[in-house]
Amino acid sequence: MIGFGHTSTGVLIGIGAIQFLPEKISTPTQIFIVSLLGVISHYITDFIPHGHYAIDPEKLTKKSLALFTLDTLGVAMFFLLIALYKYGLTSSFWLIAFAITGAQLPDVWQGINKLTRIKQNTITRFESYLHSKIAHWHNPPNTPIPGGGRPWSKADIWQISIFMFALWSVLFIG
Ligand SMILES: [Zn+2]
Ligand SMILES: [Zn+2]
Repeated sequence: MIGFGHTSTGVLIGIGAIQFLPEKISTPTQIFIVSLLGVISHYITDFIPHGHYAIDPEKLTKKSLALFTLDTLGVAMFFLLIALYKYGLTSSFWLIAFAITGAQLPDVWQGINKLTRIKQNTITRFESYLHSKIAHWHNPPNTPIPGGGRPWSKADIWQISIFMFALWSVLFIG
């Protein structure tokens, strides 16, 4: 799943937490729960066959960088501004912010890992296997996408529907 899909899933987790987590659970615990659910949601949604756009971190063009920034920071800021307008700086806002952060974390980690070549250990190797091999079982053998993803196609309407659902939820629920 590309950035905006993970961000949208994070928004849905945040809205769900605001609706359903009992008030007697302390705010730090709620924040921990949504962050963890965000991370888990990342692997689950990556598991569903999805397309990517081409971006090569070693050969960035202005266009690919603009698309990437819009897809990641742009969409996250868009949702956070709506949440801020709706809730102010309350725990509800932070639940959405941390759920988005959790949902983005595995890709942020993968990016840092690729760019800085951090020394690998059992945990990072397991994450890489889970993320690239198991969750991305659907990557085709030959693809123009650097890093080997399935290219964006009409089937990716499902990623857009999650975005629309998240937008509807943040505007009209709670
Ligand atoms: Zn993917
Ligand atoms: Zn991912």
